Amino acid sequence: MPLYEYVCGDCGERFEALRPMREADAPIECPHCGGQHAKRALSLFAAIGSEGVIAGNGSSCTSCSATSCAGCSSRQ
Ligand SMILES: [Zn+2]
Repeated sequence: MPLYEYVCGDCGERFEALRPMREADAPIECPHCGGQHAKRALSLFAAIGSEGVIAGNGSSCTSCSATSCAGCSSRQ
C-alpha cells in the first residue's frame, strides 16, 4: 500500500498515511487538529513508490526531463 503525504488546510501540519491508491485523494482527517481540509501532497517517496511507475509511460512532463516526477504524477 503506497504512502501518501498530506498537508492540513486548517493547521498546516504535514502528515503521512498509508492508503489504497484509489483512496489517495479521498478526504482524510488531520491527526493533529481533526480538520477535514487536508490536501494530498506529493512526496518523493509517494511518487516513486506508487504513481511514478504509472507516470513512466508518459513523456508529457514539462517541468523536468525525467519520465517520472512529482509534476508528472500530479497530472494524472
Ligand atoms: Zn490540521
